[in-house]
Amino acid sequence: MTTGKINVSVENIFPLIKKFLYSDHEIFLRELVSNATDATLKLKHLTNIGEAGGVTYGNPFIEVKIDKEGKKLHIIDQGIGMTGEEVEKYINQVAFSGAEEFLEKYKESAKDSGIIGHFGLGFYSAFMVAEKVEIITKSFKDEPAVHWVCDGSPEFTLEPADKTERGTEIILHIAEDSTEFLEEYRIRELLKKYNKFMPVPIKFGTRTETLPKPEDAPEDYKAETVEVDNIINNPNPAWTKQPSDLSEEDYKDFYRELYPMQFEEPLFNIHLNVDYPFNLTGILYFPKLSADLQVQKDKIQLYQNQVFVTDNVEGIVPEFLTMLRGVIDSPDIPLNVSRSYLQADGAVKKISNYITRKVADKLKSLFTENREDFEKKWNDIKIVLEYGMLSEPKFYEKAGAFVLYPTVDDNYFTLDELKEKLAATQTDKDGKLVVLYASNKDAQHSYIADAKDKGYEVLLLDSPIVSHLIQKLEADNENITFARVDADPIDKLIQKEEEQLSKLSDEEKEKLKTTLEAIVPKTTYTVQLEAMDSNAAPFRITQPEFMRRMKEMSQSGGGGMFGMGNMPEMYNLVVNTNHELTNSILHTEDKAQQEALVKQALDLAKLSQNLLKGEELTAFVKRSFEMIK
Ligand code: ADP
Repeated sequence: MTTGKINVSVENIFPLIKKFLYSDHEIFLRELVSNATDATLKLKHLTNIGEAGGVTYGNPFIEVKIDKEGKKLHIIDQGIGMTGEEVEKYINQVAFSGAEEFLEKYKESAKDSGIIGHFGLGFYSAFMVAEKVEIITKSFKDEPAVHWVCDGSPEFTLEPADKTERGTEIILHIAEDSTEFLEEYRIRELLKKYNKFMPVPIKFGTRTETLPKPEDAPEDYKAETVEVDNIINNPNPAWTKQPSDLSEEDYKDFYRELYPMQFEEPLFNIHLNVDYPFNLTGILYFPKLSADLQVQKDKIQLYQNQVFVTDNVEGIVPEFLTMLRGVIDSPDIPLNVSRSYLQADGAVKKISNYITRKVADKLKSLFTENREDFEKKWNDIKIVLEYGMLSEPKFYEKAGAFVLYPTVDDNYFTLDELKEKLAATQTDKDGKLVVLYASNKDAQHSYIADAKDKGYEVLLLDSPIVSHLIQKLEADNENITFARVDADPIDKLIQKEEEQLSKLSDEEKEKLKTTLEAIVPKTTYTVQLEAMDSNAAPFRITQPEFMRRMKEMSQSGGGGMFGMGNMPEMYNLVVNTNHELTNSILHTEDKAQQEALVKQALDLAKLSQNLLKGEELTAFVKRSFEMIK
């Protein structure tokens, strides 16, 4: 037996490891299973290139075993193993210096918590949960097995062992404060979280399997069961395969495997696969999203060589795509750094740009290959795309090719198609193309009807961030302006050369205005007289586009004018001077009668803009019944 002292400058590193990594103790299992996997894959590589000295690879697996009585946790692999010399070198020297280096780094960024799980502390993370660690290992080389024991102080012992099978067994003597890791449910949970898709099968206990009923089973056949190894992982997840080897069904199956609690099918998927200038594979899914974008539980998962790292992909995936689901696997994402550094890192920016580009390309091909289907999915994906246009210039550049603008009648146009379609009818006298839109088909019904009467198209733009988007579209497209149908009377929204003549003289107009302003609440409504078609509504409430848009933008954040979100609602009361009712109001001598007419007309206008509510509505209904009685 040899004893020795691990060569470290810090007298006792283990209490430090424990202290610094308190919140993330659970990663020890990921680290040890990763080591076991590496050791197994190394053997595979050596046998492949014929350098394993005649060893056959077979079907090795890793086993995780709990010994509750003995308070031990075993991780056993059938990989390359280590000779005594290698234990000295890799465990006592290399691994230790790794742990030391880690602590050096970690101390500097100790303020920046939340990064710990990203560090690969390796073998020594075992000491976060164990008071003593044993390694029993036999190399694939023809050398005797060895037994290494260390109790967390820099002293260790190393002696020969009688293990005959190739591979390594790590035995953790679980510390008093870590007994949770002796619970089966806890270990299963960790294996499922970190090792679900690792490339070597992982056995954890056994399970009973019912044998299939034989063809010639007798009447009183009793189902037979057998105990089989319980393999907790899928060593060949879909993203590691070639897209050409996968069917639509395979992609859907994998989605269910990733999110067993998700019952809604994804809309479509994007298979990522690049090996230059960085290595990245993965599958992203577009889920059906609800408009309120509640906090998502099922997020994109980040793996490195099939080992789960995190589901916080901030910075790696552009923000607008964090609403997607799926998997990204890249060994090239530098994770042993703080998040702020991560975002500044050039490689990470490249990855994020690549993902943006791939998503845009996929959307484009979905659009060109099956436009009808794409249109059907539009409502479920628009919020992500619109957000992408606003937040990601690279995406915005490409979005023109597939972003759609639906009309209230469910026709879908790209911006270019829209320009062409509307040019003849909706260009105003100054040569500006006016794009009309509604945000709610029911609430703005009468305004939409006015526009349609004129032969105009009305878009239905109802995402919460639409005001930001059209603001941007206007800035980038000369000679286009967007106007919501209730922003002004239709003839004012799209002004043509011909002016409607007013039936009222200037004097009459003056008188009408004074009369109305005395009755209508000034704080909310600005009276606006307009000479319109005599069939157009006599009273109409509009809300100026600019004011409303700025208010919306400042309410939904990140734009508009400061403080606008809290401004009271301001409306225009548009009075059609050519309508008969207006004429009656003007010429009624009875003041009470005149006031009643104005109030009733104002209420009707409010009603058609969905503004008549509560007490006012009750009074209106009562008054109206009186009138027809
Ligand atoms: P890393 O895995 O990052 O190199 P570790 O501290 O986890 O760092 O492990 C140090 C070294 O010990 C490994 O590089 C490997 O050579 C050796 N090792 C660890 N676990 C095993 C194992 N199960 N089988 C064979 N060698 C191992």
